Amino acid sequence: MTNSERMIEGISEGNRRALGRLITLIESTRIDHREAAMDAINQLHKPKKNTVRIGISGVPGVGKSSFIEAFGLHVIEQGHRVAVLAVDPSSPKTGGSILGDKTRMEQLARNPDAFIRPTPSAGSLGGVARRTRETIIAVEAASFDVVLVETVGVGQSEYAVADLVDMFVLLVAPGGGDDLQGIKKGIVEMADLVVVTKCDGDLIPAANRAFQDYRSALHMLNPGSSGWIPKILKTSAHSAEGLDEVWSAITEFHKMMGETGALDAKRADQATSWMWDEVTSTLLKRIKTASVQVRDLEAAVPNGDITPSEAAQRILSDFER
Ligand code: GDP
Repeated sequence: MTNSERMIEGISEGNRRALGRLITLIESTRIDHREAAMDAINQLHKPKKNTVRIGISGVPGVGKSSFIEAFGLHVIEQGHRVAVLAVDPSSPKTGGSILGDKTRMEQLARNPDAFIRPTPSAGSLGGVARRTRETIIAVEAASFDVVLVETVGVGQSEYAVADLVDMFVLLVAPGGGDDLQGIKKGIVEMADLVVVTKCDGDLIPAANRAFQDYRSALHMLNPGSSGWIPKILKTSAHSAEGLDEVWSAITEFHKMMGETGALDAKRADQATSWMWDEVTSTLLKRIKTASVQVRDLEAAVPNGDITPSEAAQRILSDFER
């Protein structure tokens, strides 16, 4: 057995060291690592169970890590295995990755049926999203059937994550949602489920206010093309209130999307855009390194020595030659 075969066998047995090895290859920028990762991904076994991919977003402080920990443990109690991945290109692994802090999700991290992976350290959003996509395939092959992909809820990463998951969940904090708490309307529109956090103790009235405000915001939005009408639920990570309702909503969504064929269609669309992402990023890298004039033209465009479109044409015709 080669090392790679051993790694693939290990992953199919749910061995987290083998899984960690593959994810390290996936996250590496070395060409031989990328090739090894791609090879291994192609050989991974298909997951034995249906998998559920959920994007979870919310601004810092909304209670995201507390929710993911409590919710993850709840889902594990229902007989599932949970992986938590993060997409946060802005924060390097050291110095404050959203999952880098070891004290976060301590209980979940210790659970044998959970796997938590912080955001890859380097790279653009596109790069991080691509690696996360591959990591989803890897954790699913290791029998983690519920995959939570976390983002920070402030901008572009939400759109990238929506393209990786089946369902998008937005967390909102107690308080008035008049201005939707500064969350971009486009992000609210993407949500299949809005979850109000911290609905306990003194915060209950404020949580009710957020619930009402977001419910009317959701009512004003059209249901997505899939036919699913977005829901809003109240939860508390401290009292575990509402966690079961969140899981029920997710399973209901999955069942409905599965029955109508919308889930297969969504994943098929995502696979196609994955392919084009690969083509685009590989091609771009090759064009940038193949053409000798790229650097000169890059300097000439801002100087106004050549128009951007003319420079583009030169680079492309040089590459085609
Ligand atoms: P994140 O930055 O979104 O990951 O938020 P955290 O999970 O770290 O929580 C931010 C703050 O909200 C912390 O002080 C938590 O103790 C508090 N918090 C989180 N969940 C709850 C909850 O369910 N109830 C209450 N009362 N406080 C919470």
